[in-house]
Amino acid sequence: MNRLIPVRTLADILPRYRGTPVESLLAYQNLGAPHAPHDKAELLIGMCMDNRKHLRIPENFAFIIRAGGGNLRYSEFKVSYAIAIGGVSAIALLGHTNCGMVNLMSRREQFIAGLVQRGGWDREWAEQHFTQFSPMFEIGNEVDFVLSEAKRLRLRYPKILVAPLMYRVEDNLLYQLREDGPEPQAETESR
Ligand SMILES: [Zn+2]
Repeated sequence: MNRLIPVRTLADILPRYRGTPVESLLAYQNLGAPHAPHDKAELLIGMCMDNRKHLRIPENFAFIIRAGGGNLRYSEFKVSYAIAIGGVSAIALLGHTNCGMVNLMSRREQFIAGLVQRGGWDREWAEQHFTQFSPMFEIGNEVDFVLSEAKRLRLRYPKILVAPLMYRVEDNLLYQLREDGPEPQAETESR
């Protein structure tokens, strides 16, 4: 099942995102919308630290928290700050294709050897480091992870619009995600 909903025109944007900063993000990234002036941040973007991703957004538009896999579970204070002090009304959670935080165990040896060779660590420390932290940062499947993170954040911040999106590194475009079941603020999809 293809759960990605492309945005090629403004009409493709799901009703629940229209008139919100998520619509602006999709228009900037996918539709080449001209950069409007923003005198304050409107959106918090959570995204992976991966180097292949580049956002086409104007100054002042968004707070951005970058963490492996776009995992905000260990950045909660920063999320709260962006809402409470920064005044953002929405969170866009960006998973991406080909994410290195998927199936970390397959890169265990590469991680340990790299940390020894390039980071100057003892092998035993590097092994312990991987064993201790890789379960915290493993995200499983990119799409499932971003959907479950969105659900968690909606419970945590019930007044904030949370949009799970996917960034395809193949075309540098954002895709909306089909979600199961009823959601807060959900409206009928137009397609
Ligand atoms: Zn990633």
